[in-house]
Amino acid sequence: MEKNHIDFAYEQDLVVRPDSRVPILDREFGHYTGAGVPLFSIGGGYYRYTLIDILARFHARRGYHIVETPIIASSSLYKLSGHLDFYRQNMYLFKIEDHDFAIKPMNCPYHILLFMHELARHRNKVRLPFKIFEAGRVHRYEPSGSLYGLLRVRGFTQDDAHIITPEENAVESVYNVFEEMRELMEKLFHLNVSGETVYLRLSLSDRELIGKDFMGTHEEWSKAESILEQAAKIISEKYNITYYKEEGEAAFYGPKIDIVMKIREGETEKEWQLGTIQFDFNLPRRFRLYDLVKEVYGYDTVFIIHRALMGSLERFLGVYLDYYKGRLPFTLAPVQFAILAIRKGTDIDSEIESLAYRIKQELIDKGFRAGVVLASKTGLSKDVRRLESTVKPSVLVYLGEKEIQTKTLMARPYLHSERKRSSIKIPLDPEYPAKHVIELGNKLESAVRELVGYAPRIPGDMEYML
Ligand code: ZN
Repeated sequence: MEKNHIDFAYEQDLVVRPDSRVPILDREFGHYTGAGVPLFSIGGGYYRYTLIDILARFHARRGYHIVETPIIASSSLYKLSGHLDFYRQNMYLFKIEDHDFAIKPMNCPYHILLFMHELARHRNKVRLPFKIFEAGRVHRYEPSGSLYGLLRVRGFTQDDAHIITPEENAVESVYNVFEEMRELMEKLFHLNVSGETVYLRLSLSDRELIGKDFMGTHEEWSKAESILEQAAKIISEKYNITYYKEEGEAAFYGPKIDIVMKIREGETEKEWQLGTIQFDFNLPRRFRLYDLVKEVYGYDTVFIIHRALMGSLERFLGVYLDYYKGRLPFTLAPVQFAILAIRKGTDIDSEIESLAYRIKQELIDKGFRAGVVLASKTGLSKDVRRLESTVKPSVLVYLGEKEIQTKTLMARPYLHSERKRSSIKIPLDPEYPAKHVIELGNKLESAVRELVGYAPRIPGDMEYML
């Protein structure tokens, strides 16, 4: 597979070993409209909007500017960036009237353009390091034979950011990206980031080939490689995370660090590439950024860094669903609460049912996604099995005669850290039946609240899915 192109998420796709099971968009999250083009279903829509909301706030709180750039561009933008010459075979090109257009295969040229616009207007009031984030949707031509579940598609969304930094802030900038990745993985996705689960791979140049296969000067490469290694050392010392150096493995435009998670499943260990941090010596030349930054700020050297924490939202979802057997974190899950109304076939049933619907409505009013399952004592385990093999609600709430009599509900939230449901008893408030269920929801959102200052809620009546 060709390695030399200005890109990162594309390469990430190759890291998942071909013999691993192919994660697919299951029916809860989406379908394919045509080869390689995933259509997110209703459940997938909640996942995307909630996740993108979290990502935007997460990055904004860390000093990134949030942008959204168009899906199509005049192909001259990609001529300038160089993509049209060496990435053409992966691009969709078309004409509008007499003008040549491209469907955006990468967000980088737009981000650099935006930086230059801001610089033109506000000069050195624009602070460096300049950081710009987009949940950027890109489309790339892939031959049908190489399409592979969610791992290789023709349209996907990158959690894409670019950092333009002077040399003096570069180590810190790289280290910060690692910290961002660690926080996001731990607090949002319940994935432990430590020496046991993660390693870093530094892809460096072959010194002999600088100026030939690797563009740029010896000085640029040794500076950038030393910056990456200094950051890797800090990470390694702080978290006991190993890093490996692979000489000659860099892209032609710059060295990089990949953050790789090791997933153990029984006897097999799979590798899951999470974040990537890549230097680029090509784009600043193409956009004449060195001269511009020198003129505005007086810096001789400036680095452009491409980085992603998840890579592609679609691919991440695929691997994550595979790893956690279809269970998303509470905040992102399509169905957050399933209320099991356990009927007996006696007079109390109407009370059970109306209470269940009341709890559902109160949850929806607070912004949660919930639904009621009309169950019976004898059919209960079958209903639970059905839910666990389909939508996998984050929390099961049991409500029957016993619960009404003891004024206590039984809730079973799925805990990712333990990979199973726990059982907790929560009081059933006569005035406000959902009160303590809502409190449980608040609690399950607390890590996200810590991460971004609030927990996004998109309410929904999800009953038809149950
Ligand atoms: Zn980029």
